[in-house]
Amino acid sequence: MSDAVVLAVWGASTAISIAAGVLIYRDAKSRDYTPFIWGLIFPLMAILSFGNPIQIVLLIIGIPLYFLLRPKGVIKTCPHCSRKYLDYLAFCPHCKREVKKECLRCHDLADLDAAKCPHCGAPMPRHEGRE
Ligand SMILES: [Zn+2]
Ligand SMILES: [Zn+2]
Repeated sequence: MSDAVVLAVWGASTAISIAAGVLIYRDAKSRDYTPFIWGLIFPLMAILSFGNPIQIVLLIIGIPLYFLLRPKGVIKTCPHCSRKYLDYLAFCPHCKREVKKECLRCHDLADLDAAKCPHCGAPMPRHEGRE
């Protein structure tokens, strides 16, 4: 391959890596899943590969690997900051505020707006907003 081709491939896959990094960072942030590591690893590998074709292999393997490894669950919208978080988290990963309240009977966690405990059916205390 000529230098120009190597440079073009490197540029293209670096651009893809940066775009993937941004998307993965945002997704990992919502899941509280080491967003800095996952968001930086693909752009960093692409830039540091200096056009080595290995970066394309890393992208093809690495991106599906992220989606395989990431914590699974329902994505919800934070009632405080309106950003996305994964259902099982007790605190919003963006604004760090509580998104769950505790059932007084079974001590399981339920959504802030739940009127009844989804686990034991006990009425839930009204959540007092904590600033
Ligand atoms: Zn929030
Ligand atoms: Zn309960």
